[in-house]
Amino acid sequence: MIELFRDPEMARVGQYQSILEAEGIPTFIRNETLSGTEVVIPAFYPALCVVDDKDHARAVEIIRSYEQETPGSDKEIACPKCGELSPGSFSVCWNCETALVPTAS
Ligand SMILES: [Zn+2]
Repeated sequence: MIELFRDPEMARVGQYQSILEAEGIPTFIRNETLSGTEVVIPAFYPALCVVDDKDHARAVEIIRSYEQETPGSDKEIACPKCGELSPGSFSVCWNCETALVPTAS
């Protein structure tokens, strides 16, 4: 199981989950029950994971193409460590899990 995406907004994580499930990729949400009105540290944000490691690259592509169809969220963030581009809504690099700093828009 590989973490794919992490976001303080459970609704968003759930949205991506339905997109991936619709593509036939089994997913799992970690920390689902911890979401709410309380401020939590990023380590406990709801996290969308792919159950099967081999689906990971495809899942990234699906989310990436989904984001490119969404106005205003088509920015990609370059990882400060490995240089891979992640979709702009990602908070950690999909490749090496380094924390990403969103570029100012
Ligand atoms: Zn990276």
